[in-house]
Amino acid sequence: MGCTQSKHDASEDASNGTMLQAVLGHLGQLDGDAKLDHTTMSIVYDIFKDMDKDSDGTVDKSEFEKFLSTHPAAKTLWEGEGKASMSRSLKDAIADERLSFYELVAAFAPEAPHHAGDASGIGGLESLISDAAWGYRGYNGPENWALLSPKNKLAATGKEQCPVDILPSTCVPCPAVDGDASLAYGVGPGTILNNGHTIQVNWKGGSMSVGGTTFEAAQFHFHTASETTIRGMQYPLEMHVVHVTPGEPMRIAVLAVLFETRTDVEEVFLSQFFDQLPSHVAHDQDDAETLTRPVDLSSISLDGGYYRLRGSLTTPPCTEGLEWSVLASPLPILPAQLETFRKALGKTVRNFRPTQPLNGRTITWVCACQA
Ligand SMILES: [Zn+2]
Repeated sequence: MGCTQSKHDASEDASNGTMLQAVLGHLGQLDGDAKLDHTTMSIVYDIFKDMDKDSDGTVDKSEFEKFLSTHPAAKTLWEGEGKASMSRSLKDAIADERLSFYELVAAFAPEAPHHAGDASGIGGLESLISDAAWGYRGYNGPENWALLSPKNKLAATGKEQCPVDILPSTCVPCPAVDGDASLAYGVGPGTILNNGHTIQVNWKGGSMSVGGTTFEAAQFHFHTASETTIRGMQYPLEMHVVHVTPGEPMRIAVLAVLFETRTDVEEVFLSQFFDQLPSHVAHDQDDAETLTRPVDLSSISLDGGYYRLRGSLTTPPCTEGLEWSVLASPLPILPAQLETFRKALGKTVRNFRPTQPLNGRTITWVCACQA
């Protein structure tokens, strides 16, 4: 047992040491417009996660030293070639501050143009890497969206971020029995695409009114599993109908609809376009495929009650000030449909952001039974 363990450690250390060596060499040579590629970023992020023992998103001195003490090859490299390859000593930096992933990468790549970002000098990973596209896992996953670009800073500093967990017992009944929202959904033409983050249907065929303002439906898209949770429970699928006001400044209202797998009720909504789910990721909106039949959203209704709160986009740049509504009753999805949907999403599957703190926000609850 002990023998197996030490063998494992030795090989792990060797591979980490080799990776670290390659990565340090690569970073140290960066200058001008040179950018890091996806593979290098993934390796650096794995090393960072390995160092960050308490998983708080930063590496402090003790974590860094612990990493070196358990990876002798990395230690040798660090004390020789690693240190020499840097103009700013990470060792000094680490002595008096906690380094985020971005700062760690920036410290290793002193000549890269990473200070060309905003006034604070934090350019974000987008200035260091060749493809700063956000994703749902690894170095460009939700925990690092704010590090990717200064434009995404609300992902870390925002106070009205979505999605949220809804605890019905803590929701406040809406003072107006009918609530402050209404839907006027009909039938409209649509185009469909997999944009690399989600499957989206661009659709014009209705509007949502919230607090006296009318928002026109622009598109609806899907997350697997759900982003919104109820009492901590995730549903297999969530749809967001995104509505916008015409003109500037544009305001956004989102209606979130949860789905649960059912076989005992008739499914009437998803089947309208499920035979045209895209099989590949589109490069831009022009690649969206026109749906052969118009899509009818009139089966989606607020009659079963809904939750209301102030919120944000759940994807970068995580813009706040959105009117959020969540239908209280999930719609049905057939198990076979769910499987088809997951297959169509391909690598995009599991495209959900974890729930965010309410930070004192009130969720109001409009119950059909009050009417
Ligand atoms: Zn969404």
